[in-house]
Amino acid sequence: MLDTSALIRGFEFLNDDALRKTVGAEKIFLFTTESVVRELRYERSKMHLNLLLSRVTVLEPRRKYLDLAKRGTSDTGLSGELSNTDLDVLALALELKGRYSQVYIATDDIKLQNVCVSLGIGVVAFRKKLRYLIYRRKKCAFCGVEFEDKYDECPNCGSRKFYYVKKKIRVR
Ligand SMILES: [Zn+2]
Repeated sequence: MLDTSALIRGFEFLNDDALRKTVGAEKIFLFTTESVVRELRYERSKMHLNLLLSRVTVLEPRRKYLDLAKRGTSDTGLSGELSNTDLDVLALALELKGRYSQVYIATDDIKLQNVCVSLGIGVVAFRKKLRYLIYRRKKCAFCGVEFEDKYDECPNCGSRKFYYVKKKIRVR
């Protein structure tokens, strides 16, 4: 899966044998979404874009996977911070996971990488690489117990008063 930042890198990135080594696979299929292609129209000439896209399959994610992507994003506490294009990319990656043994999203976007890691999607980064997985948890204002973002009340005391805490886990 290629997001806009990956396709802007273009040939330099797509022709790279290192990509094959990075993901450890013989055969690689490249995908992107309609929304990424729309964004690229502002960045690249038509000719360049057509050349790039000759190697990439453009698909639209199905609604079901878009909903899954949105849910996954809000569990990570990053809803509202990803663009619709990011959500499309994520949704298509989730959909492709059912078809291929390994799915990676190539992106330089740290927030998108963050969601990928928490949803079990591989990441291929070129310049910026996620070093910490940052996620949001709730901390009960009454008893101090921390719990997952998706719950509305404290599992310990049932209080609905909480504040958010950010957690970091080192990746790799
Ligand atoms: Zn509590």
